[in-house]
Amino acid sequence: MDDLHKPRMPIKDEGMKCSICEAESKGELCEEHAEAEARIRDHYTTWHERMDVTWEEYLRLLEANESSGKWIREVASYLIYSGARTRSP
Ligand SMILES: [Zn+2]
Repeated sequence: MDDLHKPRMPIKDEGMKCSICEAESKGELCEEHAEAEARIRDHYTTWHERMDVTWEEYLRLLEANESSGKWIREVASYLIYSGARTRSP
C-alpha cells in the first residue's frame, strides 16, 4: 500500500546512508528518521479526515510547526522535496 517513494536510483552498494542526516542506515532513512516518517504517515489519516488537508499541505504544516520536533520537521521537508520529484498520492 505504502509505496509512495521507492528509491529511484540503482543501488549496488550495501552500505546505505540516511537521505536526511547521512547516518549509516539499512534503507533510505536511518532509524530515527524512519520512525518519524512512520508517525507522519500515521497521523495523516486523522488530519486528512478532520481537516481535509492534502498530503503536501499537511507536510508544510508540520514543517512550519515549531512544536513538531526536529525529526518530524526534517522528515516533512524531505518528503515535500521528494514529493516534488515524484508525485503526491
Ligand atoms: Zn537520518
